[in-house]
Amino acid sequence: MGVQIHSAEAHLDARDWRQAVARGLRGHCPHCGRGQLFRAFLKPVDTCEACGEDLHHQRADDLPPYIVITIVGHIIVGGLLLAEKFGDWPMWLHMVVWPALTLILSIAMMQPVKGGVVGLQWAVRMHGFGGEPDRPERQPLPSSESRS
Ligand SMILES: [Zn+2]
Repeated sequence: MGVQIHSAEAHLDARDWRQAVARGLRGHCPHCGRGQLFRAFLKPVDTCEACGEDLHHQRADDLPPYIVITIVGHIIVGGLLLAEKFGDWPMWLHMVVWPALTLILSIAMMQPVKGGVVGLQWAVRMHGFGGEPDRPERQPLPSSESRS
């Protein structure tokens, strides 16, 4: 006797989230891995040029910056503490190295991290990636005539 799952998503194939995140990290479509994910630095394409997958559902929002801040913060603070503990750097060198490294790492990581987040959203079928119709951002207010 088997367990039957009756849900709207039961008929959908499972998506490999590791593969989708890896493709997103490389800036490729999470579905096929061939088409480009971005049309500008942080602007994803609406549909994949290779497979036609709808990618406009992505809602990465603030998660990529939070992830980048967490990773870069650990690298910079750890490096600064190690340099203080074991190095004998003059203050001007700290003032040059750590802000510059923070900026470079943040810019270098932002697009790959956003790609990974979009890949994860696609894999777990968030925000319309599961095939459900788009919902409007805000429901229109009922007019006063229909409220009687
Ligand atoms: Zn594709």
